[in-house]
Amino acid sequence: MTQPNSRETAARSSGSRVIPVEVFDLVIFGGTGDLALRKILPALYRRFIAGQIPAGTRLIGAARTDHDATEYRTLVAQALTEHAPDAGTETTRAAFLAMLDYVMVDALGDTGWAELAARMTPGRVQAFYFSVAPSLFGALAMRLHQHGMADAGARIVVEKPFGRDQQTAEALNRDLAQHFREGQIYRIDHYLGKETVQNLMAIRFGNMLFEPLWNAQYVDHIQITVAETVGVAGRGDYYDRSGAMRDMVQNHLMQLLCLIAMEPPARFEPNAVRDEKLKVIRALDPVAPGDIVRGQYLADGEAPGYGDDVGNPASLTESFVALKVLVSNWRWAGTPFYLRTGKRLRARTSEIAVVFKETPHSIFGAEAGQHRNILTIRLQPNEGIDLGVTIKAPGPGGMRLVDVPLDMTFSEALGPAAGAAADAYERLIMDVIRGNQTLFMRGDEVVAAWAWTDPMIASWEGVAPLPYDAGSAGPDEALALMHRDGRRWREIRL
Ligand code: NAD
Repeated sequence: MTQPNSRETAARSSGSRVIPVEVFDLVIFGGTGDLALRKILPALYRRFIAGQIPAGTRLIGAARTDHDATEYRTLVAQALTEHAPDAGTETTRAAFLAMLDYVMVDALGDTGWAELAARMTPGRVQAFYFSVAPSLFGALAMRLHQHGMADAGARIVVEKPFGRDQQTAEALNRDLAQHFREGQIYRIDHYLGKETVQNLMAIRFGNMLFEPLWNAQYVDHIQITVAETVGVAGRGDYYDRSGAMRDMVQNHLMQLLCLIAMEPPARFEPNAVRDEKLKVIRALDPVAPGDIVRGQYLADGEAPGYGDDVGNPASLTESFVALKVLVSNWRWAGTPFYLRTGKRLRARTSEIAVVFKETPHSIFGAEAGQHRNILTIRLQPNEGIDLGVTIKAPGPGGMRLVDVPLDMTFSEALGPAAGAAADAYERLIMDVIRGNQTLFMRGDEVVAAWAWTDPMIASWEGVAPLPYDAGSAGPDEALALMHRDGRRWREIRL
């Protein structure tokens, strides 16, 4: 009998093991909107195909538009054709669509609420996804309460942006807290649902190898890059009031930084993990103005520049930001975190690079050069992790050293099951139904993150961002931010 090779074993143990959740009712407020049709419903459909959502579950769209259930199913069917074209069969699709229902509801009026309450099934998990503008969160929470749908077992899911500064985030927290306990509130940051982001925790806390080196003594610096090639066309209105700092750094990059920097929690449990993340945010130094570079993309041939994209040529909002962040605690004092994110950059790529220090002394002589290990966690494309190690260049010719990656692209190491890893929304929505808040932001985390970003945003009031070429790596000044420390950014490339 042939033994399974290690790849087969890994694939099997990685398993496409699916544990069905219990039957539930999910109401999607804003069920006719872009997010619901493009992300939430396709994600639910994929989980249904995977066998995780049991028959009998009900998915109820609730929005301002007047539809009946049949029309809503047609709308969702079109969305699945567009956003989950290869998923499932005619039979699975029909079965999924049969789970859908629709109620016309006005968050700001009485329309539909009694009807919605009547459709809920007593005694099962009831979740309410607020896929609407944040200005409606408070009203939705209040009406759920008024109509008897805010009992102790109910869960609400809220989307970003969670406020636009500390004050508004605190106000949102207060509005929700009037009717729901913190344990019922699931604040989504879809970065936390990414496979690699969770793997980051597995790598750190599941291996003896890394944790002893995970500190200022051995780590030279950390880079976090989230680069996009798209501009802001299509959502210019929202973006121009937000900018890269509010849209990306305060939430997504901050969460990545927290997972890299946090102390090991005693258990992988929601509050243990979130307590540690909160400590990191509170340990962040205020960023000096000289450690921030803001940019705005220029026109490029046919493609308009930022100002024209948002219909506000005089806009002072940044579409790029790079910063040097210091974490003032025992583990990280002296090891900077460099963060950057922007639109219309050279490639669509997101990665975290942990750059270790050089060896203290080269026994191979000066000509062998200085080498360092870099652990790279790729969020996209090709989710995976690689560790750059130094080895001898093969062949005769003396002891020449070369850096090679120990590559762990998940789809290669673990087989097709890993390649088809669930989208972040699939995982996060199932976590809501299971009642697991580990990958959701707690109210105090969000407020602390705003408390850190607010002074920076206030400091650049009236200051124009630096122009940068579309298809570049951002303004040259962002490169200088690292050069002056004797370091360089990793290339933005696919
Ligand atoms: P959208 O404008 O496409 O949809 C809004 C939905 O809200 C519609 O279904 C509409 O009928 C409903 N709605 C509006 N007013 C209502 C009212 N008074 N009562 C009941 N329903 C009402 O918006 P979207 O792009 O789907 O975004 C929804 C939320 O998700 C927003 O908070 C947005 O910031 C957030 N978000 C969206 C995306 C995205 O990719 N679209 C990504 C991240 C976060």
